[in-house]
This record gives sequence, C-alpha cells and structure tokens, in this order.
Amino acid sequence: MIAKVEPLTPARTLRGPFDYRLGDDLPGVNVGSMLVVPFGPRRLLGVVVDLAEESELPPERLAEPLRALEADVPAALVRLGLWLAREYCSAPARGLALVLPPGTGTGSGQPLRPRSSLHATLTDAGREALAGGLPGLGERQQAAVRALGGGPLAAAPLTRLAGCGHATLRALERRGLVTLDRTADPSRRPRLEQVGAMAGPAPEPTPDQSAALAAVEARMDAGVPGDPLLLQGVTGSGKTEVYLRAVAAALERGRSAIVLVPEIALTPQTAGRFVERFGDAVAIVHSRLAPRERYDEWWRMRRGEARVCVGPRSAIFAPFDDLGLIVVDEEHDASYKQEGDPRYDARVVAERRAAEEGAVLLSGSATPRPESIVRHERLRLDSRVDRRGLPPVELVGMLGSSGALHERTRDALDDVRRRGEKAIVLLNRRGWSNFLSCRVCGNVWDCPDCDVTLVLHRAAGEIACHHCGHSEPVPPACGECGSASVARHGAGTEQLERELEELMSPLPVFRLDADVTAAGGSGAVLRAFDAADAGVLVGTQMVAKGHDFPAVTLAVVLDADATLRFPDFRAEERTFALVAQLAGRSGRGERGGRVIVQALDPSARALRHAAEHDADGFAAGEIERRRAFGYPPFGNLVRAVCSSEDPGPELAAAEALRERVAAAGMPVLGPAPLFRRRGRFRAQLVIRSPERTPAIDAVRAAVEEVAAMKEHAAAAFAVDVDPQ
Ligand code: ADP
Ligand code: ZN
Ligand code: ZN
Repeated sequence: MIAKVEPLTPARTLRGPFDYRLGDDLPGVNVGSMLVVPFGPRRLLGVVVDLAEESELPPERLAEPLRALEADVPAALVRLGLWLAREYCSAPARGLALVLPPGTGTGSGQPLRPRSSLHATLTDAGREALAGGLPGLGERQQAAVRALGGGPLAAAPLTRLAGCGHATLRALERRGLVTLDRTADPSRRPRLEQVGAMAGPAPEPTPDQSAALAAVEARMDAGVPGDPLLLQGVTGSGKTEVYLRAVAAALERGRSAIVLVPEIALTPQTAGRFVERFGDAVAIVHSRLAPRERYDEWWRMRRGEARVCVGPRSAIFAPFDDLGLIVVDEEHDASYKQEGDPRYDARVVAERRAAEEGAVLLSGSATPRPESIVRHERLRLDSRVDRRGLPPVELVGMLGSSGALHERTRDALDDVRRRGEKAIVLLNRRGWSNFLSCRVCGNVWDCPDCDVTLVLHRAAGEIACHHCGHSEPVPPACGECGSASVARHGAGTEQLERELEELMSPLPVFRLDADVTAAGGSGAVLRAFDAADAGVLVGTQMVAKGHDFPAVTLAVVLDADATLRFPDFRAEERTFALVAQLAGRSGRGERGGRVIVQALDPSARALRHAAEHDADGFAAGEIERRRAFGYPPFGNLVRAVCSSEDPGPELAAAEALRERVAAAGMPVLGPAPLFRRRGRFRAQLVIRSPERTPAIDAVRAAVEEVAAMKEHAAAAFAVDVDPQ
C-alpha cells in the first residue's frame, strides 16, 4: 500500500502529498494517521490524506515512514481541512493544522502525549481467582488482586496499596486476571468560572420550544440532514433550552454534538448550562486553556469519553466521528470569522461539515444575519419565556448637546443610583481620548507605523495604536513646536468610567473592554458586577454579549451611529445587532427596564428598527438592499490585499492581480489604497461575483501567478474569502 502524506510544514513551497510505501511494521495506517516520514535529510510530521494501491514513482524511490503517532484524526476531518485550505486560499498544511490534535502542525514537530492515568479492573477470571484463593500467584500479584476486589483503581494508588510496581500489573494483565486501560485524568478537567445564576433542572418546554425541537429531531431521524435550521428568538425566549434538548436528542441517538459559542470568557453562563446538563460528557475548549488542557480535552473527545464539545470557532474541528448535531449560538457574532490565515468562517465550515457528515445544523440568534434568513429554514420563538415584554427603547438625538451623556441619560442614570439598581452603558471605543492635537500648531500624534492617530490611555500613562500595538509615554509637549498645550478629542470607555464614577457615587462602576480582557480580568469584572447589589457596567460591545443579569433596569448605548459611519456594507446590520442585543440585557428581572440610545442621527433605519424591536422589518429592508447590490447572500465577496514596505509595489501587484481576475471574467473593484498599517502600504481588490467557487479559483490562480513573479517580489498577498 501507498500512503499519500501531506507534510505539516508551513513552507508554501513544499506542497504534497508525497508517496510513502507502507511496510508490515506499520499496520493500521489510514487516512487521518499521523506519520513521521523521512524527507531528504530531514524528518517531517505528516498526515495521511489518501491511500493508494500503487504509486507513480518507481519502487526504489519510495521511502517508508519512520513511525506512526498515537493520535489520528477521523478521515472526514482530513477532507474538511483540505477543503478549507482551498476554500480560503491557504496552504494544505494550514488547513490540516486546524483539525489535528492541538499542538501539532505548528512546526514544532513533536506533539504532546496524552496525560492519562492507567486504571486497573479485575476481569471475571480475576474474580474467580480471588474467590479461589489466588493459587499460583506471587505475593505482590496477590496483594494487587485483593486490592482490586473492592472495585477498579488507578495505578498510582493501587501500586502503593499493594506495594507493587507497574510490571506486576502488566503480568496480571497477561494472565487475563486484570484489564488495564488509559483514561484521561478527571481531576484535570478545566473548570468554568461561574458567573450569574446557573439554570436549574430542565424545565418543561413551551409549545414553541417543542415545535422547534420536533423539527430538529425530524431532521435527525430522516437520515438526511437537509437545509440548515435557523432558530430566531429574542434574548430570553428559551433558545438555549432548545439547544440543550437538541444535544440530548443527538446523544440519545448515539451521536456527538458541537456547540459553537462566541468568546467563552465573556459568556461562561451558556457553557456552564451544558456542563450542568451533561456533566463529564462535555468538553470545553477555549483560548484560555493551557496547551496541556486543550490536548487532554481533545483526547477525551477522540476516545468518545466526551460527546459534546462547547467552544468558540475552533470547536468546529472537534474530533468526533459520529457527529449528529452542530449548534451555532449567537450566529451573528463576528468572532466566528478567523482573522489570520486561513481566514475561515466557522459558520461556513459548520455548514460544510454538517452536510458532509450527515449532521443537523441549528443556528440561533435574536438578530440573525441576512445570509442565514435567506438560506436556512427558520424556526421561531416569538416571546420571552417569562412573558415579559421587551423594554421600551428611547432614541435621543445628540446634535447640539455637549458632553458624552444627554440630559435624559443623566436623569435615567440618576434614577438607577437613587433606587440602587444596575445599569449597563455601552460605548464602542476604548481608551480615554481618541486622539491628541497641539493647540498651537495643530500637530496630531500619529502611529509611526500606521496611518491612524494614537489613542490616549490615561491609566497606563501612554498613547497607543489600536491597529499595531505601538505605544509611547504621554507626550509632555508638542514634538513640532514645543508647546505644552495639548487638546484631547473624543471620549472612550476609560474617560466615561471616570465620569460615571462621579455621577453614580457611591455605586460601584465596573469597566469591561479589550484593555481589561488583555489583563485577564473579564471574568472577574463580570462576576463582580453580578455580585454587587447595585452598580454600573461600562464598556465596549463586550457588555452586549449574552450575559443574564436580572437586576439591570437601564441599558444605554452612546454614539450608536458611530458604527454606521464605517464604509462597510455590514455597518447597518452590525449597528442593529449591537443595539438590539444590548436592549435584551435590560429588564430581565421583575422591575422591568428601559433602554436609551444616543445618536447623532436617531432617524437612521438600523436604529429605528432596533428601537421597535423589529428584527423582521430590519431584515426585510436589509435583504432587499443586499439583493439590489449583489452583496451576500446574493453574491460572494473575495478580498485580496497586497502590501509592501515601500509605497508602489503594493499598487503594482494589485493592478497585476486585477488584470488577471478580470480576464477570468470576474467583476472586480479596485485597486483601492488602504491606510498604512504595521508599517506596510496596502491596496485592496474586491471581487463580487454571483458564483462562489469560480471567483475563489480565479483569485487563487491570479495570486499564485503574480506572487511568483520577480517584478512583484516586494509585495505580499493576503486573500480573504467572505471578508467581514
Ligand atoms: P435564550 O437562550 O433565548 O436567551 P434561555 O434558553 O436562556 O433563552 O431562557 C431564558 C430563561 O428562561 C432561562 O433562565 C431558562 O432557564 C428559562 N427557560 C427556558 N425555557 C423554559 C421553559 N420552557 N420553562 C421555564 N423556563 C424556561
Ligand atoms: Zn505644536
Ligand atoms: Zn500602529
């Protein structure tokens, strides 16, 4: 047999697969096996992507693999990884790295070994021998069997009890008296930080929930998964309960399930409900896990000890080979798109994986994307479980008013203060001030590496770039004219926090934004806000995620149309979702609640619909607009960005790409210059085509051709399919 092996090296020039002859000493090699193979003078780690009877190479040129690793991945995942690499114009090794055990494929070569503990159990023969007085056994063997009479034991305590070593246990195994098996150490399970109220036992489903669940189960039983399902329901309408029951339905049918959630650190409640319902059958994977923990969770899934994987986008690669269900919670969330290569969208990958493996795909949101509304079959939960209405939303125009907070907002916050309640205030801009300028000469402090202004972070005593991480101490004087008179423009969360501390005293104010998260404090902030009797949570969009704080009676969005001013066709959708999601945070308790939305132009379509909790009305208009302009889901976008250290090559490369893509018959916009970032000049092309695969293929072919040309050697290329 011949194994076709794709080497796991990020070197783009080394494109497999390469053929290796399988000798008798490596039985059981299959698609998904991981092999260490000789490659010239080197040794490489590779994945078997195919098996064949024969090779086109002459036998004397075929080498044999050196050894096989203990870990392997299901064949379907190998196909998924290779598909992903093509779909997102990346290298096969990078696509495969996503589906392999954590820690492999990163170039470091040697993967971790599973940390598992050896457990010993008496066999029937062992019990008989014990009853018969253990004839023919040595002293230590006898002691070990006796110790096991009370039930299975891990090797460590057993060897201590019996005063024996592992060799004794293996001898007993050879005699058929004891079985030894490896299980992951349960004490190593990652713990979830608890935030907020945990759900009690499973409630009786409402008629709407039952209907949604029946649709999911019908799909499972039909044998063919059919179109993906979209569960639309406002926050508190019981979507998570439907997910929980859908997972139970998959498990009852002997299948595994994946539950994708946005960033776990921000929404531990949801993950916690799965652990609470399914216990050890749940594996939690997220970015905060140590490599060791990730690896252990991977093995629990691979061995079938964990049947449910809950996690952010990478959880879509959970190594199940009997997948029955994929849930995508908060399917509108931008975190499902990966920013680095390969720039995959976990929602698209979920669709592919569900279709290939016969699993049901169930996405859900209060504010689903037009893409899902158009292409999925919709299920609805139309009211909150507790029958409470959604809170009234007041739109407040800020033209002519100075300061961050409008009069009405101040009054509403003051009510919260006097009554000792809770409020959430959202401002999607971190730091203290947007930028600094010299009052004398007008000099503005810019990032040396990007064409953007530096943002003042007062607590840290620095001005920082939000695009590259560059930071420098707050300048004492203007570098151009020496004036010490510096103006600060705009307000961010840091400044707002200070203002609210004064306004709301003695209520505590908690801040949640990327600066806090970077310090590892998001969980602590959320717990503190939850535990406080009263207070204010202020922060960026993170505060609008799915937290459930019953005591919140006021939610405020500042500068709600800031996101609308972005030159992005998703700007309206984002703004609508942000306001609607935040509105869902208010009034979850008995005291009801209100929502205030401050904007320069409160008549904007996204804001008006959000104020009326009119997701359908917003979606209808949005879908028409998308149809008219050929935007997703009525067209496909592929973005190519060329960059270079000096100005010029990036534009020339983009122009060369444009010619080729246009010659392939694809409609292409650009090249358009982008602002300089991380010291690199950039230009972008956008391909907008009704046909998906031909568009991707045309861009890939053009990039491969131009990237190989000497005259464009100074340019680097990045392709983003379905850019966000
Ligand atoms: P969503 O995910 O749509 O925000 P959840 O599933 O979290 O909604 O439900 C909101 C609250 O209602 C939770 O506290 C949940 O335990 C409770 N709940 C959900 N379904 C029911 C039900 N059928 N009966 C009673 N309470 C329910
Ligand atoms: Zn100056
Ligand atoms: Zn910068």
